[in-house]
Amino acid sequence: MPTTSTRFQNEQAPCGRIVAGEHYQDQDDEALVTDDWRYDCGCRTTRHEYHDGSVGRKVVHHKGKVLVDELIAGH
Ligand SMILES: [Zn+2]
Repeated sequence: MPTTSTRFQNEQAPCGRIVAGEHYQDQDDEALVTDDWRYDCGCRTTRHEYHDGSVGRKVVHHKGKVLVDELIAGH
């Protein structure tokens, strides 16, 4: 599946800084949709949407600390 990437400007990263970055979106067999925001400061947010409707979300601070790692059931 092709990965699409979109450049963004002036978004608030998980650390609170307003930075630019890249938003990647792709699909694979395991997850229906994967959204991946990579902020220029190094912070990262990943979101997986699964076939059963559940959504997994992971937020990593640019210093390496995992701020959020959760799975939300789709029902
Ligand atoms: Zn950051």
